[in-house]
Amino acid sequence: MEELRYYTFSILNMKTNTFEQQAGNILSVLGNPFRIQLVFALGAQEACVCHLEALLKKRQAYISQHLMALREAGMLETRRDGKFVYYRLSNPEILELIQHAAEVAGVDRSQFPRQRENEVLDKCICPHCDGGSSVSHLEKTENLSVANKQI
Ligand SMILES: [Zn+2]
Repeated sequence: MEELRYYTFSILNMKTNTFEQQAGNILSVLGNPFRIQLVFALGAQEACVCHLEALLKKRQAYISQHLMALREAGMLETRRDGKFVYYRLSNPEILELIQHAAEVAGVDRSQFPRQRENEVLDKCICPHCDGGSSVSHLEKTENLSVANKQI
């Protein structure tokens, strides 16, 4: 079984199948502070781009670009539900890897970002946030149409 898994893995990574290349590829994709922020914003939850936009206060195009890089490196899984695409980490070890890197750099554990869990954000119109927010649906829909006009 283990052999079979290794075989499949080698085919998928034929161009970069050495220990050094594969480890180096993961480290280089994560070698960007915003991507690390994104990974911790996802944490153990799944989130759509609009949720990440409200959480990280960056433009959607910027967030999408970095999500794409993480996805191409196999670190994200996606799930489509209607017009929303939800992103989630494909492997929780990615969080641990970043925490280890921070420890090697001498960062105290108390400085580590907290785990995000099912936060409801006022400025987000995703189904998760829209269900529990104090902001009315109408107000959010208006905000969205204004945002769409700007694009
Ligand atoms: Zn949301």
